[in-house]
Amino acid sequence: MQNKKRLMFGLLTAVLILSFLGGCSNQIPHKRPKAEMGVLDLTQWRLDEEVIKLDGQWEFYWNQLLEPLDLKDSGAQKTGYIDIPGSWNHYTIEDKELSGDGYATYRLIFKTEKNRRLGIKIPRIFTSYKLWVNEELIATAGTVGKSRRTMIPQYLPQVALFESQQGENEIVIQVSNFYHRSGGILESLITGNENQIIGLRDRSIAYELLLFGSLSIIGAYHLALFLHRKKNTPPLYFGLFCLFIGIRTLLVGERFFIYLFPEFNWEIAHKIQTMTFYLGVPLILMYFKSVFPNDFHPNIAKTVMGIGIAFGGLVLFTPAKIFTIFNPAYQVFTFIVIIYIISTFIKILHRKEKGIELIIVGGLALILTSLNDIVFLSIWMNDHSSYFLRSLFRTGSLSSVGQLVFVFANSLVLAKKFSNALEQEEVMTAQLKEINLNLDELVIKRTEALEESREKIEYQKLELEKANRALQLLSLKDPLTGLWNRRHYDDTIQLEWNRTLRHKRPISLMMLDIDCFKEYNDCYGHKAGDECLIQVAQAIEGLFKRASDLVARYGGEEFIVIMPEQGKDEAIKMAHLVRKTIEDLNIPHKCSSVSLWVTVSIGVTSMIPHVDCSPKEIFLAVDEALYQAKAAGRNQVKFL
Ligand code: GH3
Ligand code: MG
Ligand code: MG
Repeated sequence: MQNKKRLMFGLLTAVLILSFLGGCSNQIPHKRPKAEMGVLDLTQWRLDEEVIKLDGQWEFYWNQLLEPLDLKDSGAQKTGYIDIPGSWNHYTIEDKELSGDGYATYRLIFKTEKNRRLGIKIPRIFTSYKLWVNEELIATAGTVGKSRRTMIPQYLPQVALFESQQGENEIVIQVSNFYHRSGGILESLITGNENQIIGLRDRSIAYELLLFGSLSIIGAYHLALFLHRKKNTPPLYFGLFCLFIGIRTLLVGERFFIYLFPEFNWEIAHKIQTMTFYLGVPLILMYFKSVFPNDFHPNIAKTVMGIGIAFGGLVLFTPAKIFTIFNPAYQVFTFIVIIYIISTFIKILHRKEKGIELIIVGGLALILTSLNDIVFLSIWMNDHSSYFLRSLFRTGSLSSVGQLVFVFANSLVLAKKFSNALEQEEVMTAQLKEINLNLDELVIKRTEALEESREKIEYQKLELEKANRALQLLSLKDPLTGLWNRRHYDDTIQLEWNRTLRHKRPISLMMLDIDCFKEYNDCYGHKAGDECLIQVAQAIEGLFKRASDLVARYGGEEFIVIMPEQGKDEAIKMAHLVRKTIEDLNIPHKCSSVSLWVTVSIGVTSMIPHVDCSPKEIFLAVDEALYQAKAAGRNQVKFL
């Protein structure tokens, strides 16, 4: 992976260096002839093998539009010589510098050794021209005129063919400009073998169309990417930038667009071309900022954007004549932005982050080649014609190579980012799936646990209820004898009373008291007393088989029996049975004043409840009956 990256990095650097060298490959190591005093000697130059720029001193006729025939007359007044390439701005006539506006005729004599078919590659000329070779008009662009009104500007680089003669040949060019800041021939004319010249133009056009095609498709692709995911801004800026320089490619260089639409308005074409430059600068900064959001200052980006838009407005609302005046200012501004971007790149490179080399290499390729072209086409080159600058910047069409490197490198980076994002998504989806799966298991486990604990709770509830019931029962039972206690007796007598009252049925009550029990305790001890109590209680309880009968321990050694639906005779019968049963237990009682055995006294009563009465009455009655049984000598039954 790392090696692959290094390889790519190296490859791009190589392309960059080669393209720089390629840009300069027109330069020939051996000395190239230059025009002197309007004459260029090409007799020693092998025109079949190599093309040559028609650079040097041309004859210059200011404020004159002369045709080849006019120049034959002695009436033509030569202003002097002018260096080509270079604008006529600042050309001094009688201590006065020319501006960009005006018209002039250029003339060059070039000598060849024999007759040949030759081609001449004419650059754009500012801003209209007519060109003759050997008195034959072979190329025009726009309409040459002596005023803004009469001339029509057009940038139309083209190739023209002519027949050269042995000895002297003559090129005459009429140029007029009232539309651009600079006037004249700002780029070199090139001549050479017909096929070579045509090949030069064909290659340039092919290259530019290739560039246009790639840029527009890459641009459209990234814009589409952005439209599908608007959060992701790098594709937006990158796509827009690609489209901008794609459009620009057709409007500069060979200007294929003008070739396709020769009538297209010069002003509008110029506006579009300038606009792509003015807006391209903030766009590229926004792109880098979107890729390295923390390294580029947002306020600087905003300022650059603002200035770019302001200059864009200037282009939109003023004619080329005015907005081109501000071109140098924007070039300086661009230069500052470039320095800012490069210094930020250096800062970023210091971090030694992975995967940023391609962006930096692409960015540098774009920036440095653009810088080259800006300087090459700037007024400092054209209007001031510094020899040093000219030797340093030899071609003005490097940026297209830089753009290609930039677009290629950054497409790779964006594609990588895109696929990384997809990969990450895949990984996350897988993780999510796993989590989901685990979640399912977890849910099942939890449900099981919940079910379990619910069962447990249910069980505990049952146990609790059981315990509660037992406790409740316990609270109603007498702990010593296991009979119902007095509390339960109180509740039950009320219920049974109401029930028998409703059904007008009888209810009987029996009350028992062990005779001389205090003495029993004194004789045998308290513990034996308890055992005696238990034995007597069980014996009594054993006699009452009906479910509705209730035997309770009413006090220390007193018992009470509720007998619902039982009449007087039955109740008395039961009382006698109880008395007899206890006596027959034969529990020895040596301290009793009644018998040798433990005995009981019993009171019985029976009634049909009446609404005017309450359970209290029947209790008082049975208590009284018991008292009478005691008073009458104990160990007997009394009915009341
Ligand atoms: P009476 O012939 O008049 O019934 O005389 P009594 O001694 O049986 O009557 P009294 O009510 O004066 O005395 C009840 C005695 O019963 C007092 C106490 O010593 C005894 N006693 C009461 N509850 C218990 C008990 O739970 N265990 C034991 N061992 N003795 C008890
Ligand atoms: Mg008693
Ligand atoms: Mg007693």
